[in-house]
Amino acid sequence: MNYCLKGHDRVTAVQEMLLSLLPDEEHTGVTRCEPGQDVLISEAYFEPEAAVCRTVVHRGGAQYTGVSREPFAGSGDRQGRALTHAVKEAAYRALLPCLDHRPVWGSMTGVKPAKPVRMAVQEGMGAEQAPLFLHRRYEVEPRRSRMAAQCAMESMKCLQTIGSKEVQLYVGIPFCPAKCRYCSFVSNDVTRFGHLLEPYLEVLHEEIAAAGSALSEAGAVVGSVYVGGGTPTTLSARQLDALLQALYEAFDLSACREITVEAGRPETITPDKMAVCAQRGVSRVSVNPQSMHDDVLRGVGRFHTAADIVSAYETVRAAGRFIVNMDLIAGLPGDDSEGLFDSVCRTADLQPENITLHCLALKKGSALRFGPRGVLESGEVDRCHEELARRGYRSYYLYRQKYIAGGLENVGFCRGETASFYNVCMMEELCTVVALGGGGVTKACDRTGRQIRRVSNPKYPLEYIRERGRVVQRARHLGKMIF
Ligand code: SF4
Repeated sequence: MNYCLKGHDRVTAVQEMLLSLLPDEEHTGVTRCEPGQDVLISEAYFEPEAAVCRTVVHRGGAQYTGVSREPFAGSGDRQGRALTHAVKEAAYRALLPCLDHRPVWGSMTGVKPAKPVRMAVQEGMGAEQAPLFLHRRYEVEPRRSRMAAQCAMESMKCLQTIGSKEVQLYVGIPFCPAKCRYCSFVSNDVTRFGHLLEPYLEVLHEEIAAAGSALSEAGAVVGSVYVGGGTPTTLSARQLDALLQALYEAFDLSACREITVEAGRPETITPDKMAVCAQRGVSRVSVNPQSMHDDVLRGVGRFHTAADIVSAYETVRAAGRFIVNMDLIAGLPGDDSEGLFDSVCRTADLQPENITLHCLALKKGSALRFGPRGVLESGEVDRCHEELARRGYRSYYLYRQKYIAGGLENVGFCRGETASFYNVCMMEELCTVVALGGGGVTKACDRTGRQIRRVSNPKYPLEYIRERGRVVQRARHLGKMIF
């Protein structure tokens, strides 16, 4: 749909709303509106203590109007935030009659729904108002509003324990045994790019050493480590051992709360690699079925079976006392509501401490991006959430993504006190995350999560290897950048 702005410059706010509500259409900014053309016209102005926006949508010969008036006190940031809110809300109200269903996340476009709840509580809102805060402010469905509040409370619990010089550490291994067809991560299939693995690890070891010296000079304390990817267990047991040893040598991990290793693909999980994890103090391992149905797995290019998942899970359990996470995806091609529910039940039957239920998001880089999109109803996912709650799991972090099926969300569940500290910190931007390896994005955050500075490493392994000098140089200056 074309859009035209009058009296304001909040292009991103309008684009985000259009993308969120009409994800399958192209959206183009125009300066003139032709008669009879489908267009959204967003016009805003300020009153003494409020931002006001009126949006008119012309679509299919009909006309719809949305108005929003957002009060603010003071000026500067608050005034700017009020304008953005009014522009989004007016666009949402004008577009709502064009949709065939009410979006479960209402007018929220952000990817971190728990964060505004936490900020509102930190700015003085009573905790008793948190469960329905998003419902009142963004017309979010009440059950999702409550879920976001629960995650916000979890993040506030974590925040209280974070020291002033604490950072979380991410280490990326962007290699996998083969590429899943839905995947949009930078992940290199080792059957084609295996020759890059050793040179990649050489640069990574150098970067780890440089970052370790920089952080210890700056007095930083590492609170958690997440080795992700890709699939880090694509490394051999020897390579994995050397990597974990390098982390211990470079950083003081004596106060580290958890070390996670993603072992996403069952074909990469072997007793010797899990023994390395146990010996090196890894506390959390992720084993990811995605689905427990072999035909669905084959259809997305994962050439393992549900039985392989069960046997990999047993290998992990036999090696040590890990917290085990298992990822599932709702909305995979070839799956349906019963198949998804069955996958959730069979996964929960294994009794992992954590289960993460994603909804498919086909972004740029995914081989399935241009294929037919399945429809994912919120009720199918809600049924799975309820089943997990019935089995003693509670939601502890959540996030949304662009192009996510059904406009839904990804939710991390845990039993008891097994929530992943790293996941909460990273998702809720509670403190600085130092990211090492190709594609790593270090985010220096203040404690409010409003002020964030980013420094990115080269995205692809080959670039990362070629830019070795710059990568190591940047790591040497991390201390200055993050504090
Ligand atoms: S295992 Fe994960 S990172 Fe690797 S290709 Fe599949 S989805 Fe992508």
